[in-house]
Amino acid sequence: LSKVNADKTYTIGTDVTYPPFEFANKNNKYVGIDIDLMKTIAKREGFKVNIKELGFNAAVQALESGQIDGVIAGMGITAERQKIFDFSDPYYKTGYVMAVAKNSNIKSYKDLKGKKVAIKTGTAAATYAQSIQKKYGFTTVTFDDSDNMYNDVVSGNSVACFDDSPVLQYAVKTGTKLKIVTKPADGGYYGFAVMKGENQKLLRLFNKGLRALKKDGTYKKIVNKYVSSSS
Ligand code: GLN
Repeated sequence: LSKVNADKTYTIGTDVTYPPFEFANKNNKYVGIDIDLMKTIAKREGFKVNIKELGFNAAVQALESGQIDGVIAGMGITAERQKIFDFSDPYYKTGYVMAVAKNSNIKSYKDLKGKKVAIKTGTAAATYAQSIQKKYGFTTVTFDDSDNMYNDVVSGNSVACFDDSPVLQYAVKTGTKLKIVTKPADGGYYGFAVMKGENQKLLRLFNKGLRALKKDGTYKKIVNKYVSSSS
């Protein structure tokens, strides 16, 4: 990809399904907080974007290998990732929670001993689950997207899964047969990522646009379109 053409279209990778941040709506249109933020900022700051639904881990790897210009995918700003990527200003707070099937009697990490837990490849919530795995003595099974991970728990193949609180809250609210049983473990904030030292102009424009959206109420409007203020 050319990095010098001022008129270039930036290719932005995202997840396939991570509602309310990115997902296909009833009309099969790709929407969500991330999508609306990126498109609105691009329009206002005068740059073009081509958003590609690659899956979370695939998007991060595509960014790392220089195939795409940025990732917006409910991606947590973590110290580990900051070694490889430059992040925008934080735009959404998150935390990691554990969810179990609606009828499950698993209530805490302690109940996971000897059981199978579903995690999503390359995610911060997976890293969190792995960090407590030894202590609580569970095994893991991995998935590339959140939907398949949730279904594995609903179907009873695994007893629990770990994902971000805003995403699992939205899933439960929209009918996924899961319940959240833990308080969020601190997950910091989401940010838009580019390769370290690259696409700095894009990053600056994103930050400038984000500040403007926060100031004039558009950011709030976008969030409220997907997440009711009561949740
Ligand atoms: N928020 C999680 C992370 O940063 C997962 C993102 C996602 O699955 N789209 O790793």
